[in-house]
Amino acid sequence: MHTRLSDEDLAFQAEVRQFLHEAWDNELAATCSNRATMKQGVEEWQRRLYRKGWMAPHWPVEHGGTDWTVTQSFIYNSERAAVGAPEAVAFGVTMVASVIIAYGNDAQKARFLPRILKSEDWWCQGYSEPGAGSDLASLKMRADRDGDEYVLNGSKIWTTYAQYADWIFCLVRTDSSGRKQEGISFVDRYEDSRDHSASNRHHRWLPPPQRSLLRQCARTA
Ligand SMILES: Cc1cc2nc3c(=O)[nH]c(=O)nc-3n(C[C@H](O)[C@H](O)[C@H](O)COP(=O)(O)OP(=O)(O)OC[C@H]3O[C@@H](n4cnc5c(N)ncnc54)[C@H](O)[C@@H]3O)c2cc1C
Repeated sequence: MHTRLSDEDLAFQAEVRQFLHEAWDNELAATCSNRATMKQGVEEWQRRLYRKGWMAPHWPVEHGGTDWTVTQSFIYNSERAAVGAPEAVAFGVTMVASVIIAYGNDAQKARFLPRILKSEDWWCQGYSEPGAGSDLASLKMRADRDGDEYVLNGSKIWTTYAQYADWIFCLVRTDSSGRKQEGISFVDRYEDSRDHSASNRHHRWLPPPQRSLLRQCARTA
């Protein structure tokens, strides 16, 4: 297999190394590896990627992607891993963004994608439940339509980074009449775990390490 890098690839490799040398410094590395400051550190790293235009290489160019070749992606990720710099947190830029790019309407793309790109929103994933892990089709969290909103009832568990999250994307049951693999919908909901106001008293975060979420009558549009 031909593995020698072209002159263009070698120039790209040099650009990546220069960027990492400048942007991934010891102070930022220490901030990211300290649990108390991890969120600030990761957001600062992602903002540096954003300013360079490298926060979401795999996105379509019209939404902020880089249009890299496979070799350039390999070079970037190899060099990034070699210096111990983290990937961008996947829940937003990879998982929910891919759904919004593929199935979202223009208003949803305009609302969510720029905020993910600029690390202004932190997302978490609400799939697993106490009785539904590998067998995710057994999930029980219900979403009942009420006007323009869904009322969510149930619990999620193992929700990584929930304590930092502004938004959660969840798999919920919107129909129980068919096979368990059917009737499952993908919803997202604004979360403000720091906000203990009345509208948020309907769910309780339980302590880390991996948060579990007990939700009663919470609403999402
Ligand atoms: C660090 C960490 C972070 C996580 N973060 C998230 C998150 O952010 N959001 C989220 O939704 N979930 C998260 N999860 C949950 C993760 O998705 C589940 O742990 C995973 O789906 C397995 O489910 P379970 O833990 O309930 O194990 P189970 O499904 O109960 O499985 C237990 C064991 O049984 C085996 N097993 C299960 N079914 C079968 C079968 N049919 N045949 C043979 N063997 C089987 C499994 O392989 C496993 O070894 C996280 C988990 C971890 C450990």
